[in-house]
Amino acid sequence: MFLGLVPITDTEDGNTELSVSVTLSREDGTATARLLPDGEPITVAYTFDAADPLDRKRQEKRALKRAAFALMQQIRPTEMPWGSLTGIRPTKLLRELCERVGDEEAVRQFSEVFSVRIDKLRLAATINAVQKPVIESVRPNDLDVYIGIPYCKTRCLYCSFGAELAKKNAVEEYLPFLYRDIENGARLVRDGGYSVRALYIGGGTPTVLTAEQLDALLDHYESTYGTFGTECTVEAGRPDTITKEKLEVLRRHGVERISINPQTMSDETLKRIGRAHTAAQIRESFALAQSLGFSSINMDLIAGLPGEGVADMERTLSEIKAMKPDNLTVHTLAIKRSSRLKDQLDKYPLPSREDVERMIDMGFSAAKEIGLWPYYMYRQKYQNGNLENVGYAANGKLCVYNIDMMEETTSILAHGANAMTKRVFCGENRVERIPNPKDVPTYGAKLELLDQQKRALFLP
Ligand code: SF4
Repeated sequence: MFLGLVPITDTEDGNTELSVSVTLSREDGTATARLLPDGEPITVAYTFDAADPLDRKRQEKRALKRAAFALMQQIRPTEMPWGSLTGIRPTKLLRELCERVGDEEAVRQFSEVFSVRIDKLRLAATINAVQKPVIESVRPNDLDVYIGIPYCKTRCLYCSFGAELAKKNAVEEYLPFLYRDIENGARLVRDGGYSVRALYIGGGTPTVLTAEQLDALLDHYESTYGTFGTECTVEAGRPDTITKEKLEVLRRHGVERISINPQTMSDETLKRIGRAHTAAQIRESFALAQSLGFSSINMDLIAGLPGEGVADMERTLSEIKAMKPDNLTVHTLAIKRSSRLKDQLDKYPLPSREDVERMIDMGFSAAKEIGLWPYYMYRQKYQNGNLENVGYAANGKLCVYNIDMMEETTSILAHGANAMTKRVFCGENRVERIPNPKDVPTYGAKLELLDQQKRALFLP
């Protein structure tokens, strides 16, 4: 948070620019941080629920973070909108705290203990209020289904997902594995008496599949699962993979929600970040999707792209406002360790954290102007300015899957290479995960083992 991508190492050899020690004293119930060799110690106290060993671990970690945070704020004072919070789900944390200690105490802890800025606290509280009825509507046997197509046409400069390039043979070899995975999932749902609440087809870019492949995939899903519950979202993603034929296939199968992701409306930036499409293609795909009657179209933007400034964001947002999507997601660029961008930062100047924060605020105002309100959010590591990603939606247009997944309030049965299955144990504050291997041949070879693991997790 304070040092960006500066390498952090063990200080045993004493050969570092800045050395700090962070220690925990279980006898005293305190965590202490100090600058080495002889800085003043900063100590914070913690308490925990003695009957809950997980709570002890959680509170110890938080105390260590708070001590380190306070020390770093002394050494390198930096504006931190989310204070010492480093987790990706601040709304989940706030909701859980409200349940445990009441709203007033939760708000106090957010601002006084975690040092969260008031505007961010308000954002989290607003989102929680919007999500409340959606979360309360989850029934004990509900789950969501995820299908992943881990292929893209080109690799974005900032990508760390590791999507493979969509070569014809690779996709054709992948689909039979995916089909088998879906069959196994449908059997598990039937045997466990589960009910599908939402389906999300994500990636990569699912629309790298041909219209025939998409049609066959949805046919296969329907013939195995029978239903996608109340909503089905397909991340169309890149406009250069969208055709009328593919969108018609989706509509024929009852898909109402898609995502068409510009990231920016600047052709120059699109080229710089390695996306092989233009702003004009975004406008065309959006108009096409609207004409085919999708009830909800999401657009993703990224604030802080290399080479962009506030004026670029302004231009992008004015184009978005003209298109008036009913869902908009505004991300803050994250410089992920495994991205190409991380290794080429000298070549790609990034906007300052103040400018990125202005861009994020502009995204909020633009969404409001077209009648969209924040309904889900998450954070990532190494986001410029330690900001957040926020999803906005018009009334009645929010994506249930996004809330279920980010808030971890519904189990997710995930199919596809690199997809993550999660079993949520409601009331226990416990989530167990089974990741599918990233590598396609390994994924294919382990399908039956994965099925056994998922059955053990989901079936009593
Ligand atoms: S579209 Fe997404 S998954 Fe594909 S390369 Fe770009 S960032 Fe990665």
